[in-house]
Amino acid sequence: MSSDTPDSSITASFDDLGLIPPLLARLAELEYQQPTAIQAQGIPSILAGRDLIAGANTGSGKTATFALPLLQQLSQQQAARSTSNEGTKGNYVSGLVLVPTRELAKQVADSIRSYAVHFNGAIKTVAVFGGVSTNKQMLALRGGCDILVATPGRLLDLISSNAIKLDRVKTLVLDEADRMLSLGFVDELTELLALMPAGESKQTLLFSATFPEQVKSLTQNLLNDPVEIQVQSADASTLVQRVFTVNKGEKTAVLAQLIKQHQWRQVLVFVNAKNSCEHLAYKLSKHEISAEVFHGNKGQGARSRVLEGFKAGEIEVLIATDIAARGLDIEKLPVVFNFDLPRSPADYMHRIGRSGRAGEVGLALSLIDHEDYHHFKIIEKKNKFQLEREQVDGFNVDESAAAALAADFLAHDKPMAAPAGTGKKKAKKRAQEKAEQEGKNKAPVNTDIWSGY
Ligand code: AMP
Repeated sequence: MSSDTPDSSITASFDDLGLIPPLLARLAELEYQQPTAIQAQGIPSILAGRDLIAGANTGSGKTATFALPLLQQLSQQQAARSTSNEGTKGNYVSGLVLVPTRELAKQVADSIRSYAVHFNGAIKTVAVFGGVSTNKQMLALRGGCDILVATPGRLLDLISSNAIKLDRVKTLVLDEADRMLSLGFVDELTELLALMPAGESKQTLLFSATFPEQVKSLTQNLLNDPVEIQVQSADASTLVQRVFTVNKGEKTAVLAQLIKQHQWRQVLVFVNAKNSCEHLAYKLSKHEISAEVFHGNKGQGARSRVLEGFKAGEIEVLIATDIAARGLDIEKLPVVFNFDLPRSPADYMHRIGRSGRAGEVGLALSLIDHEDYHHFKIIEKKNKFQLEREQVDGFNVDESAAAALAADFLAHDKPMAAPAGTGKKKAKKRAQEKAEQEGKNKAPVNTDIWSGY
C-alpha cells in the first residue's frame, strides 16, 4: 500500500483544521475543547480529499473525524449545486457509512445529526439496519439522502427494493473496518462495493481500533494512495486494566462481591454466549443483584430499551455478548468486566474500549480461572501489555488445585502447548509449573486502588 503519515504533532485547536463556521459553532456548543489525536491528523487529510486508513482506539473520537469533513464537503457541494441549478437527490446517497451493528448505526447517525444542527436540516442523514420493519426506512429514504448509515444486510435489502441506489456515492466510510472486512461481512461488502462508483471516483475512509494483517492486505484494493494514521489514544492512560485469578466455579461470587463492595452504578459484563447472559443474570439474582441481558436473540425493540435504560443509569448491571463490544458509546461507563475472555485478542480491546472513553476514568477487569490462564497470556502478548495477576479478598486461589487442573487442561485440551517430541508427563509437569507461575498470587487487592471508581 502506498501511504504517507501526516505530521504527528497534535493541533491544539479545531480552528486550525479548516472546518467551516457551522461546524466550529457546534463543537463549541458540545464543549469539545480541542481535537483528539485522530481528529487533528485525520480531518485535514479527509478535507483534502485523500483516502484514509486510520487505526485508533475506540473512544478516540473517530466518528467526528469522518463526520465533520463529510458534512463540510456535502454542504459545499450543495452550495455549488444551488448556484448551478443542478438537479435533486433522486433516490441516491452521497455519503455512505457502513457499520457492523444496529446500535452502532443508530449511534453514528445520531452523532452526525448532532454535528449537523447548524445546517438547519439541509443535510439529511438516515440510518438503516435490520431487526425492524423496512417500511419506515423506505419512507425515510424517499427522495434519497445525503448521508446513509447502514448495516450491510439491510442496505442490500433496500437496494433490491429500489429504495436507494449507490451509484452516486462520493464518500464511503467503513467504521469498525476490521469487522466489516471479516468473513461474516465480506460477501455483503463485496456486493455493495460493486454497486458503487469504482476506485478513484470516490473517497474511501477506513476506521478501526485494530487492523489485523490479513485485513490490511484486503484493504489494498479498496484504497487509493491512502494517508495512513495510527494513533494510540491519548486517553488510553485513563483506562485501568486489572486481571484477577479465581478458582473454577467462583467467578459469579467474585463478580457479585466486587459489584456490592464498590457499588458501581453501571457495570457492563461480557460473556461469550447468548444463553450465558441469561444464566449469569439468574445466578446474580441469587446474590440479590438484578441484571439485564443484551444479545442477538433479543428483538430490536428490547435491545434498544435495554441499552437506553443502561445508558440512563436505570439498569446497573448489563450482561452482554460481543454485539455490545463494538463502537457503543456509553457516557462515563465506569466498569467493564470480562467474565468470559473473548476468543480473539482484538475483541478484548474492543470490549475494554467501552470504558474510559474520551478521557473519562474507566476500569476494565478480567476474571480468569485456570482454564483461562493460557488464553489471557495470548491476549496480553498480542495486545502488547502485561498485567499483574491479582486475587480478590476472601477468594484466594487454591494454587495447587489450580495448577493441577491447568496442567490437565493444557495436557488434554491444548496438546500444541507441549513442544514436539517431549513426553506427556514432562509436558504436564512443565504446564503445571507454568500454570503455577501464571496463577501465582501477587498481593490481594489493595482496596485503596479502587477509590475513585
Ligand atoms: P467515538 O470514538 O467517535 O465513539 O467518540 C467517543 C466520545 O468522545 C463521544 O462521546 C464523543 O462525543 C466524544 N468526543 C469526540 N471528540 C471529542 C473531542 N474533541 N473532545 C471531547 N469529546 C469528544
